[in-house]
Amino acid sequence: MDILGQSSLILGLTSFALGFSVLARNVKNKLFLSFALVTTLIAGWSLAYFLEKIWPGGSFYRWHLFFNLWLGPSGLAFVRILVRIRDPLSRRLLDLTIFAAMSLSVALLLHFDSLPWVLQLIYFAPGAIVFQIFHLMWIDRRLRAGLKRLPKLPTVGLSRRSWIYLGGLLVLSVSVMDHVPELGRIIPSFGNIALTAYLFFLSQAITEQRLLNFGALLSRFVVLLAVAFTLTIVYSVLVAWIENSPGLFFLNSFIASFLILMLLEPLRTVVRYFTHRLLSKEHRRLEQTLQESLRALTGIVDPGSLFQSILLTSEQILQPEWAAIFILRRDGTKYRRVRLGGRDPQADTLPGSTIPALKEILVDHPLLRYCESLKQRGELPVLLDQVLENEIDRSTSRLQRDSLAALVQGLKALGSNLLIPLLDGGRILGFAVMRVNAPPEPWGSNWGLLPIIYPYYEQAAQTLRSMEVYVRQREKERLATLGEMAAGLAHEIRNPLGAIKGAAQFLDPASERPESRFLRVIIEEVDRLNRVVTQFLDYSKPPATDFKTIDLSILAQKTVEMMRAHPTKATPGILIEFVDFKRVLVAAAPEQLQQVLINLIQNAIRALEGCTERTEPGMIRVNIDVEGLGANQEAVIAVEDNGPGIKREHLDKLFIPFFTTSPSGTGLGLSISQKIIESHKGRIEVATEEGRFTRFSVILPYLPTLED
Ligand code: ADP
Repeated sequence: MDILGQSSLILGLTSFALGFSVLARNVKNKLFLSFALVTTLIAGWSLAYFLEKIWPGGSFYRWHLFFNLWLGPSGLAFVRILVRIRDPLSRRLLDLTIFAAMSLSVALLLHFDSLPWVLQLIYFAPGAIVFQIFHLMWIDRRLRAGLKRLPKLPTVGLSRRSWIYLGGLLVLSVSVMDHVPELGRIIPSFGNIALTAYLFFLSQAITEQRLLNFGALLSRFVVLLAVAFTLTIVYSVLVAWIENSPGLFFLNSFIASFLILMLLEPLRTVVRYFTHRLLSKEHRRLEQTLQESLRALTGIVDPGSLFQSILLTSEQILQPEWAAIFILRRDGTKYRRVRLGGRDPQADTLPGSTIPALKEILVDHPLLRYCESLKQRGELPVLLDQVLENEIDRSTSRLQRDSLAALVQGLKALGSNLLIPLLDGGRILGFAVMRVNAPPEPWGSNWGLLPIIYPYYEQAAQTLRSMEVYVRQREKERLATLGEMAAGLAHEIRNPLGAIKGAAQFLDPASERPESRFLRVIIEEVDRLNRVVTQFLDYSKPPATDFKTIDLSILAQKTVEMMRAHPTKATPGILIEFVDFKRVLVAAAPEQLQQVLINLIQNAIRALEGCTERTEPGMIRVNIDVEGLGANQEAVIAVEDNGPGIKREHLDKLFIPFFTTSPSGTGLGLSISQKIIESHKGRIEVATEEGRFTRFSVILPYLPTLED
């Protein structure tokens, strides 16, 4: 058999295997499907040729011609999907080849191929692909010159696409040469081998979603060759052993296959590692830069230098046109842009327009949620527009496609096409965004460097986090000192207050003189100031530690009676009711617990007094209860009033110091109460309905009594 026949077998088998392996990754992907169609047709085409060589004169040659016909339309469809060009001319070309393939198939069926010109037509039908390639090259030229805009982003970068075109042209021309009888004699037949290599290159490009550079491609070839070679040795040694014994043949083949299956993965890993080392000098240089940058991180102590260092490393490795760092704001609501960098830091506008890029985005922005979901799935949480675009093509649901398209838009709005989060333990502390049109030169179109550099950003996030902890600790210490100073200041204020009030009272504020009005204002304000200062001092007091076992119902009863007897608080028309319960024991500091109860009852009285539209009498009910079962039992004191209730927008501010809606209030009552109850390992809960009621429940750990 001649070289052409032999190489047809190789081409047929490899092309079938390549199509199958691509399709096995994702059966729903249009690109993969079209590739598998082309490779299957090529497999049929070359295998039919091979079979014809073995059994000449059969119908194999006609099959060969049939597959040849359909190579045109399938090739065109594949190229259209690969390069993503929606162009009317290429559409028409596709329709034309489909029509030609159909009519020539009928001609084949009717045995018209015996006419030489029909045969020639069938032979040269795939030539339509050449037209398509020239047409695409023309479109690309205009794209590059900025004369035309693509409706969608191309799968592969413009500069690298010429490889696909040139490769395609070369392969087509040598394949045609093989089959033109006169040329075949002059030039050795290597069209099939060229086509095998080209299909391998394409399969790698589409499954990796990028064009591999020469080094990477070569290393994959070397890996395949080395593994195939080693496995052949294993197989040959075992099978050569047989010495005419068919029983042994079966056994040894089984052992050989078993060994091969076991060896395949580890062998591939080892060979891949070494070829990678040998072939990629760039890899080593990158590793060096990364290591230096990582080392530099350990010496950084302030956030400013850290951001600068992240930008610098990004610039060294990715060489972005423009870059920026966003950091989570202190209040945790937004990420704000803190630093700009890149080759042209001023270019902070959206690509191709003058609109400035966003400077802030919300914490729950879909971009960041997507990063988090990638991280949770154990994937690389880096967003790249190219990968997202490809993901859009792959996805089958419209909803998913829309949300992915929104992510691409989100990246654009930030002025970038690459986002790398600063993730620490699942929390995004900030992120770097960059505009990098193509991976840095030595890496060709290879984005495979992203997983290599990502750990650097993770380490940077950890550094940032430790800085945060450090800054928070310093802030705490600062606040503690400030608290001590404030407590001292409060004492200093309270002492003269007594003297001022005494002096004002001495001047007889109750008299009818017009100035007495001012004396009464002085006394009222002094009282108010005194209340604020006293409560402030209470707030800054350290929590009590001398807990006693007390009966809550006795304490509550005493307090209610005290409040009823209080001359100013026993406002007529407000009823304070106490619902008794059996003995409820808790461990507590009684004075502090009483203070909480007084605060809650006073708040209720104040709320009822301020509520003028009430029709029924004002009612405060103090109730004691035990809730939960077994070890989870808790003691609850509830203070409920039928006052105006609390507005929804005030609810989450209630316990913030100095929050008040009452002109005579200090806004410290509830925050002090909360602090006291938390020191008792309890909590305060609020239930309210506007215009109907408010219930504050103090919940404390319950001490079981003997009766329980
Ligand atoms: P103050 O009572 O000095 O204003 P607090 O911290 O005790 O400070 O209370 C804060 C705010 O909570 C009050 O100003 C009031 O708006 C609201 N509040 C507290 N208790 C009640 C209640 N029982 N009914 C309605 N609003 C209340």
